[in-house]
Amino acid sequence: MHDVLLSASNLTKRFGGLAAVNEVSLDLWRGRIHAVIGPNGAGKSTLTNLLSGDLPPTTGRIVLGDRDVTGRSPQRISRAGLGRSYQKTNIFLAFTVQENVRLAAQSRAPRPMRWLSRATAFRDTNERADRALELAGLTHRRDMLAAAISHGEQRQLEIAMTLATQPRVLLLDEPLAGMGTVEAERMVDLLQRLKAEHAVMLVEHDMDAVFALADRLTVMVNGQVIASGEPAAVRSDPGVQAAYLGEEH
Ligand code: ADP
Ligand code: MG
Repeated sequence: MHDVLLSASNLTKRFGGLAAVNEVSLDLWRGRIHAVIGPNGAGKSTLTNLLSGDLPPTTGRIVLGDRDVTGRSPQRISRAGLGRSYQKTNIFLAFTVQENVRLAAQSRAPRPMRWLSRATAFRDTNERADRALELAGLTHRRDMLAAAISHGEQRQLEIAMTLATQPRVLLLDEPLAGMGTVEAERMVDLLQRLKAEHAVMLVEHDMDAVFALADRLTVMVNGQVIASGEPAAVRSDPGVQAAYLGEEH
């Protein structure tokens, strides 16, 4: 069985003279969380944007499943099975939790088919939304306004919205940002649950969470990968110690 769900090779993104991402290659595997760490400005968000299609790479190749999706639109890449969350939450505060997830599920619904009644399509979308809420641990908040739930739950909601599109690959950009200890622990549990069914790329500053979750670890500095592999090996790499982990972040 082929368990590499996304394979990026030699990705480069230039902004004028700056190579924000410089010849980066990485594989995301089903059942693995691949953490990407590095100081601010290292290129982590740009890498995420390349993989999701929000930015076209200057050079390099991205294969999702068995499809070359290099240069495809975010919508095409999403339909091909990639879901992402953003560093800033992206939810409609005046809608309920369930409505937010249902809208996300709808955006991914197949074109209405003649033999599928509107009622059936509606039920299917609702069921997908409720499954995503369940997986994200938000069923008890289903009918609350998104504005009324905690910051940590809003981050969970964003993940539920991503899950409602039924992705196989998940890109999560700092899902623990701004969370307190209890919220962070809940998010770590959620990410652990997600990895069975998904390939996950996790960009995260919280090193406790990274070392609790990561099956693979890539360290970026100035757009380049300076180390990648098993977390324990990467952690003790002298170059990594010097460039990043040795400092307090
Ligand atoms: P990180 O997420 O690791 O903090 P980013 O990917 O946001 O890093 O940024 C990497 C580098 O690329 C930074 O020097 C940043 O200023 C630059 N950069 C990011 N986006 C743009 C853009 N749209 N235009 C020009 N420079 C950018
Ligand atoms: Mg960033």
